[in-house]
Amino acid sequence: MMAQYLEIKAQYPDALLFYRMGDFYEMFFDDAVAAAEALDIALTKRGKHLGEDIPMCGVPVHAAENYLLTLIRKGFRVAVGEQMESPEEARKRGSKSVVMRDVVRLVTPGTLTEDSLLDARRHNYLAAYALVRDEGALAWVDISTGAFHVMPLPPVRLGPELARLAPSEVLMSDAIEGDYRETVSDIGPALTPLARASFDSTGGEKRLLSLFGVGTLEAFGQFSRPEVAAMGAIVDYLEITQKGKLPLLRPPVREAEDRTMQIDAATRRNLELTHALSGGRAGSLLATVDRTVTPGGARLLERRLSSPSRVISVIEERLDAVDFAQDQGRISADLREALRKVPDLDRALSRLSLDRGGPRDLTAIRNGLTQAEELRAILGGTAVPRLLAGASADLTGHDALLELLDAALVAEPPLLARDGGFIAAGYDADLDAARELRDEGRGVIARMQGEYAELAGINALKIKHNNVLGYFIEVTATHADKMLSEPLSGTFRHRQTTANQLRFTTIELSEMETRIHNAAGEALEIEKRLYDTLKGAILESAAGIAATARALSEFDLATALADLSRGENWVRPVMTQGRALRIEDGRHPVVEAALRRQGAPFIANDCDLSDDPARIWLLTGPNMAGKSTFLRQNALIALLAQTGSHVPAERAEIGVVSQLFSRVGASDDLARGRSTFMVEMVETAAILNQADANALVILDEIGRGTATYDGLSIAWATLEHLHEVNGCRALFATHYHELTALAGKLAGVDNATVSVREYEGDVIFLHEVRKGAADRSYGVQVARLAGLPEAVVARARAILDTLEKGDREGAKRQVLIDDLPLFAAAPPPAPKAKLPEGLGEVARLLEDTNPDDLSPREALEVLYRLKDAA
Ligand code: ADP
Repeated sequence: MMAQYLEIKAQYPDALLFYRMGDFYEMFFDDAVAAAEALDIALTKRGKHLGEDIPMCGVPVHAAENYLLTLIRKGFRVAVGEQMESPEEARKRGSKSVVMRDVVRLVTPGTLTEDSLLDARRHNYLAAYALVRDEGALAWVDISTGAFHVMPLPPVRLGPELARLAPSEVLMSDAIEGDYRETVSDIGPALTPLARASFDSTGGEKRLLSLFGVGTLEAFGQFSRPEVAAMGAIVDYLEITQKGKLPLLRPPVREAEDRTMQIDAATRRNLELTHALSGGRAGSLLATVDRTVTPGGARLLERRLSSPSRVISVIEERLDAVDFAQDQGRISADLREALRKVPDLDRALSRLSLDRGGPRDLTAIRNGLTQAEELRAILGGTAVPRLLAGASADLTGHDALLELLDAALVAEPPLLARDGGFIAAGYDADLDAARELRDEGRGVIARMQGEYAELAGINALKIKHNNVLGYFIEVTATHADKMLSEPLSGTFRHRQTTANQLRFTTIELSEMETRIHNAAGEALEIEKRLYDTLKGAILESAAGIAATARALSEFDLATALADLSRGENWVRPVMTQGRALRIEDGRHPVVEAALRRQGAPFIANDCDLSDDPARIWLLTGPNMAGKSTFLRQNALIALLAQTGSHVPAERAEIGVVSQLFSRVGASDDLARGRSTFMVEMVETAAILNQADANALVILDEIGRGTATYDGLSIAWATLEHLHEVNGCRALFATHYHELTALAGKLAGVDNATVSVREYEGDVIFLHEVRKGAADRSYGVQVARLAGLPEAVVARARAILDTLEKGDREGAKRQVLIDDLPLFAAAPPPAPKAKLPEGLGEVARLLEDTNPDDLSPREALEVLYRLKDAA
């Protein structure tokens, strides 16, 4: 057995080998050590190898999925080695034969299909990046849904695209350079190097042709060599990991880069599109706007939000769908009700195709298609806009399949096919008979007893059962002669005589016995066969079912966005080819939702960027005034609009944004080991080098990470470059008031500020954005709000006054600083007013009591003492 283990293991050096032994998957040697630690399970020993103990650990097969998930999350890959025959079969081959085993699947992050291993509301992409000379291409696939895409991609765009797709695994040729590896690891997916041959474009083409059963790839479009290489690598990898069982991939769809808004990784992180900065989904834009009710709809929303369109006709089509859902309130509500019962069709389909499905996947298909019919019925003859009209046509057309599934399947089947019980009664006569025998075996035997009693003319004849004889016929010894002579002896064969009884059997009874014994197994066999037939019927209609699934997702998304728009008071944006970004009373959806939970209102603000008068707003105002919120809300409104959603504003006119950039000065990025200022500059450089005239750039406190004059100078030069060279729209928040002077010099720059009011030395944040520059920064007041000791606040105010006065009067800073008196510790607190004499003990007790130092219990004691003294 060990020899077999080592032989299999040698083929999978990079994976943990789950070696099936009965009801367990066992791991040995280093695998066992690593897995025991990762899974926190016991490490034991089994036998010896080369004189050393063999470390071993194991997980029960029935609970294996959870363990698999943990291992995959921790970055392992797992080869699942199953028994390919039963121990009896092995024995038949030879008394010493070990059960044949083989790896049936290599589990990796990008090739999961189990519901328990996947997030239903997210895609799980496997991507491959190919380079042929300097030309690159990225292909990606979600094997749990079959979606397959490819696009040409120059190396510099690899990072942003990976950030957009967020694949869980990326394949690259092991010949590719280290820089690319770093790009991948910066974004986070597992990187799997493949042999160069996997990326060979000629071999790739062959694999694709045979996978899709076509003679030429032109059927799907014109693909470049790197594109074919990337797609071919994916297919090769799937063949390796799925051991030849290929998932149902849809024909590859070529994506053009210039059709979607480009958003790089830093911007995505910064705007918290799909993940909040804290890491989770909660608090992200996606979580805030997601009102979908099906997994497919949720994935469609994530896809759209991650890749907003740049094509006005596409955006308008999506907006029309949302408007329809909003206008047809009644129908929409009914559609959503029906959608709530829609299961994950895509993933059920993919599991069936990979032979990893179960009865519940069959019923998922049935229920999904039934609900699709229901949706179609709800729509009736209502005229629907184009996008939904296409979807609506895809909702139906599965009559024959539905009829078959309806007749064949029970309502709520068990999880596993091997348990049986999922085929409905009355569907298959053989199955019904087998089950009857299994369930009602005793009844059948009871009937036989009556028949035999009559035949023998012995009323007391009984059929009994024990473990030695199985079923047998029993009569008392008084009937011995009759039973042992003709004609009865022809039917009843004597088996045993006891003190008072004689026992017999008949051919019929032993046949019946075998049949009862086998009935359960037979019923299971029949069900398994029927399962395969139903599965086959489903897979034959796979393309149509996938189209229905897409249609359901489209309806889900349209109605979800309409629901959101109605509930949150959003409007349809006006899309133009121009370069204006005009937003009236815009709001930040995530901040607004958070404030609402605290019962606070959100102050809506206008934004107006256009060629005339100004494409760039320079925003000043104290910390905490709402600058970042304003910047981001305008970016999010543009992004939502191009996703095809209504937007949080009273009115919005949006000239389509080609690229969206968002940067915050000096964010802490210590984990990546770069100085924060360096990160800030690298990211700013990326914008200045890439932003085109239709880009929207948001810069929040750029230059903050270095000394004042350095920072000011860099911010200054950056702003000038955006204005003169990039010529794009931009919102630029800064605390360098000196920059406001630029508005006078650069024609396309306007000053804006978030207003605050000063009241008795405190600042009150109004969160109102208006034209003009902030008069001052209120840093001292904000510091006070933050709880800086009063003495420090007072001292800061004095220094500030001196410096400001000096600035006005043109005095030299150094002289002023030298002249400032040194910090003096705060004066001792004024003596407390004396308590009136005569209160005696009470007064003394109160004097000695410092409430801040008391625990609740001690406070109670003081109260008792006071009461005593009074
Ligand atoms: P800044 O970037 O100017 O330091 P932020 O944008 O981070 O300020 O905003 C600080 C806080 O002020 C936010 O967390 C939010 O609670 C509140 N805030 C910001 N904008 C608004 C607004 N328009 N209406 C209401 N509250 C707001």
